This record gives sequence, structure tokens and C-alpha cells, in this order.
Amino acid sequence: MLQNFSELGLKDDYLQAVEMLGYTRPTQIQVETIPLMLSGRDVLAQSQTGTGKTAAFMLPILQRLGKANGIPRALVLAPTRELAKQVADATEGFARMSGVRALAVYGGQSYEVQIRALKRGVDVLVGTPGRLLDFIRQGRLDLSQVETLVLDEADEMLEMGFIEDVETILNELTEVKQIALFSATLPEQIHKLASKYLTDPAKISINPSRMTVVETEQRFYRVREETKLAALCCLLETDDVTSGLIFTRTKARAQELADDLLRKGFSADSLHGDLKQARREMVLNR
Ligand code: AMP
Repeated sequence: MLQNFSELGLKDDYLQAVEMLGYTRPTQIQVETIPLMLSGRDVLAQSQTGTGKTAAFMLPILQRLGKANGIPRALVLAPTRELAKQVADATEGFARMSGVRALAVYGGQSYEVQIRALKRGVDVLVGTPGRLLDFIRQGRLDLSQVETLVLDEADEMLEMGFIEDVETILNELTEVKQIALFSATLPEQIHKLASKYLTDPAKISINPSRMTVVETEQRFYRVREETKLAALCCLLETDDVTSGLIFTRTKARAQELADDLLRKGFSADSLHGDLKQARREMVLNR
């Protein structure tokens, strides 16, 4: 049975923040993770995007950080710039009351912009491994006070070949007291990483049937390839969709589908790894 946020050990500031965000009940990953992380335990969690995992790790991190001091005390490693930005944005939402500042650093954006932001002071730093490592090597990043580390979508970082970078960064963090690892899947290499760096982690696994937020209704339609587009258009119209995300198997397919939808009169655009960063940001902003 899902509990209330107030039963998880969160203080008023954070209870107010989640209320302002419109979260009425905690998701399963939040129920299981928040009390453990508040107690300082390491966590190894199998959970996907969409389950509310960001709040699950960030609310306890913020509560444990307390007041802002402008020096990174929490670090989140994320596989992509989109995820890094999403986590930093979510953090600002949760931290409205405490003045804690979050920043995302990632490749594809100028170093100067990010360096200036770092200089202004950051409490929670979120970054992709490559860019973080660049900053470390340039001596521009002081991670000596990082106490909490999150490896977000660890299997994706593994898949993208970032594991060595992740380990290099982990070895830089001499003061880390708590590590949380989140991963949709737990292949052997993730277990190895966990056993090397985590201390007696609490293991959390979200039952696959509960992997979406409670508000999400799932439906499945079986259609032929040649009627897919018509079926999709029909759904978009009958469900009166005002905004939506469509996932495709390939980048080319994303582009084709966006073009098809545009031709059918829908306001659509595609987002995939072959697009330049400026273009990606433009699409996201639209
Ligand atoms: P995440 O898995 O962290 O990417 O979160 C997925 C989405 O669920 C985000 O848009 C969150 O704002 C939203 N969310 C997270 N926790 C809750 C909650 N307890 N109730 C409603 N929505 C939530």
C-alpha cells in the first residue's frame, strides 16, 4: 500500500515542495528509497525512468544537505545531456525552499557558460561523465566535498561506454559517504561496479507491473505495419492528445514519423542523437 509523503521522514520544506509540484502520493520507488537514503544507507535500485526515481533520491539528498553553501556536496552522474538537464531542473523544483542550487554540465554546450555557472556556486552538480572528467582534468572542479553520489541510469552509462570514466570520477571522490545506484537492468558489470564501490547497499527492485507512475494508464494495440500511421492518427484524434511523446526503434524512424505526422496536420517534431545540440534544445523548448 502506498503511504503519504509525510510518513517517509521528509521535513515540511520538502513536503511543501512535492505538494506544489502536484504529487499527491509517493510512488513505490519513493516509498522504498526515501527513508533508506535519509538514514544514510547506500542503495542499489532497479528502476526505470517514469517511476519517480529522481524525487526518490533527490529529496533525501536535499534534506541531508541542509543549507546551501555553493560547493558541490552531491553529484549525480547521468548518461545523456537530456537526463542531466532533467535531473537538475527537477532538483531546482524540489529545492525551492532551501535555496540549494543545481547545475547540469554536459558536452555540446560551451565550457565558458558552464564554468561561469560553476563559479556562481553549485550545491548539487549533475553531469555526463565525459564533461565532468574534462572539468576535473582542467582543475576547474572541486569535488573534495562531495558526500553523496548518484549513478543514474547506470546500465545506460555502461552501454554508452562511460564505465571507465565513471570509475575515474568515483576514484576522485575521497569524501563520499553515500552512493545510490539506479539502473533499469542489473547486468553483471553493474553488480561488479556496485560491489566495488557501494557499502552494504539496500537492494530495491520495482516490480515490473509497478514500473510506471500510478497515473499512467497503459494500452496495447496490435496493428499491421501498413496501418500503423492511420491507427496512430486515429488515437491522437480520438484521445484528444494535446501533447505527447512517441518512442520509435530507430532515429530514421523518428524522423519519418515526425514528417508523416506533420503532413497529416499534427504539430510534430523529432528528437534523436543525430541532431545537433542547438536543434535538440530547440525541439525540447517547442
Ligand atoms: P522520473 O522517473 O523521476 O523521471 O519521474 C517521472 C515523472 O513522474 C516526472 O515528471 C515527475 O515529476 C513525476 N512524478 C514523480 N513522482 C511523482 C509522484 N509521487 N506523483 C506524481 N508524479 C510524480
